[in-house]
Amino acid sequence: MAKKVAFYTLGCKLNYSETSTIGRQFTNAGFETVDFTEAADVYIINTCSVTENADKKCRKVVKEALKHSPSAYITIVGCYAQLKPKEIAEIEGVDMVLGAAEKFMIVDFISDLTKEPKTIIHNKPIDETNQFVSSYSYGDRTRTFLKVQDGCDYSCTFCTIPLARGESRSDTIPNIIKQAEEIVISGVKEIVLTGVNIGDFGIRNGERADKFFDLVQALDEVEGINRIRISSIEPNLLTNEIIEFVAKSKRFVPHFHIPLQSGSNKILGLMKRRYRRELYVDRVNTIKSLMPNACIGVDVIVGFPGETREDFLDTYNFLNELDISYLHVFTYSERDDTPAKDMEGVVPGSQRADRSKMLHILSDKKRRAFYETQLGKNALVLFEADHKEGFMHGFTSNYVKVKVKYDPVLVNELKTVKLTELLPDGEVSVTEAHEILTH
Ligand code: SF4
Repeated sequence: MAKKVAFYTLGCKLNYSETSTIGRQFTNAGFETVDFTEAADVYIINTCSVTENADKKCRKVVKEALKHSPSAYITIVGCYAQLKPKEIAEIEGVDMVLGAAEKFMIVDFISDLTKEPKTIIHNKPIDETNQFVSSYSYGDRTRTFLKVQDGCDYSCTFCTIPLARGESRSDTIPNIIKQAEEIVISGVKEIVLTGVNIGDFGIRNGERADKFFDLVQALDEVEGINRIRISSIEPNLLTNEIIEFVAKSKRFVPHFHIPLQSGSNKILGLMKRRYRRELYVDRVNTIKSLMPNACIGVDVIVGFPGETREDFLDTYNFLNELDISYLHVFTYSERDDTPAKDMEGVVPGSQRADRSKMLHILSDKKRRAFYETQLGKNALVLFEADHKEGFMHGFTSNYVKVKVKYDPVLVNELKTVKLTELLPDGEVSVTEAHEILTH
């Protein structure tokens, strides 16, 4: 009988795409994948170093796995496994910890599922981890996260990602095109380009071979992809040529997610971000002048050391005035081995929480205001497979979330609808449209 494997993923889209790739390796090796809540022979937990209380979370997931199958073999991979292998090894029940490079050789490492008295660690230093391993997520038929880049050469003072994932490196354009074609054949309608710092795409073997814009142009030529979404891109790397190209493209959708982190130039300096707020305004204005209906999402960190009330209000007012559509708010928390951990001006936890709350309210207001500008318009919606209390959801190309009565026939279909009303839960209702849109 085939051995059973189950997965649990914490963290970002990149982790999801990598879990899928590891999953395919197990399938090729003859394993059967089961749900995490079922009894399995092996559980793989893909961790994140950005997750608040990563160790607690990891411990909880391990316990959960052992509840379903007390003698299962437990393996921990991912960013947290690269950063803190010894801490993880001490968690009761963990059999193996694999670092950033070793996680893609997992099937070789665990071919023998004998539980040893001591946890096995395979973890080479991150500066020796410079190989690019292609990944894309598959499972949800509607959307795929395609990893095009890994690692980061920046040194933002709050971030552990360069320590967990190593230097910036990318796939080749022909290889990405090949994967995009495979994805099209599998029936998936939307590709989300994913990486740690995708705007820095194009470095191979430590040298710049091409640019993100080259990739964007090449992907736009791939027949059959309905939608391509650029996930998150640093403002200093989102050039005018990329914005202008997206504005004319039939495949790249008018949705940008641009990390800001702070609207105070003082804090941006302390964070060692590579732009100032003036550049950010410029990017938003360029996008909106070429694509008035574009959706713009913003990452912000509150409570960074040195952020006074005035600095925070600076950020708040800056965002309030900016023509953006939603925020992803992160509450700063200290991370080992980062310069920010030793900075002065630590913000008390209660103030961090208050600031986060204020920005969550602002985000809600921004999203509603953006959705309201879209009411009455016709839009092409890609419907997803979710089914909750008789309803399902879909997204327009500019990321408006719509809600309709569940209809299995709609799953993974692109349909033109008219956006009619902003519902109390913040989603948008629709009616059938007469005119048919093609993109
Ligand atoms: S750009 Fe900054 S925040 Fe983003 S991964 Fe690199 S170091 Fe971290």
